[in-house]
Amino acid sequence: MAYDRNNVFARILRGELPCNKVYEDEHVLAFKDINPQAPTHLVLIPKGEYVSVDDFSARASEAELAAFLRAVALIARKEGVVESGYRILSNHGAAAHQEVPHFHLHLFGGRDLGPMLRRPRG
Ligand code: AMP
Repeated sequence: MAYDRNNVFARILRGELPCNKVYEDEHVLAFKDINPQAPTHLVLIPKGEYVSVDDFSARASEAELAAFLRAVALIARKEGVVESGYRILSNHGAAAHQEVPHFHLHLFGGRDLGPMLRRPRG
């Protein structure tokens, strides 16, 4: 899948749309999700053009990969969710209902997050 430069996170990175920023470094930007599913719900994105976690894992440089995972720990500490616990999640593709085609991690915390996946009905 080709990268769409008009996706909402690309527009945030270019400064065309606002975001509620919580962290930024050379490779990473993190901001509050616009439709939070938990008291803490952040979106972490790489600054490079990657469609999903699949694309990022395959193509990102060692520096980008390292910066991204390091940022998780930094941000979780900054947000005060390390003690209580938090969850990171990334959706790739249709089965996972990925909406925004720029790789992102969701970071959830601030409440009991329940079981990892909803069970199928029936
Ligand atoms: P996903 O289904 O994993 O692609 O999730 C996309 C996420 O992006 C959703 O949780 C949305 O609420 C969030 N989102 C969409 N637009 C914005 C925005 N402008 N600022 C912050 N979060 C957004």
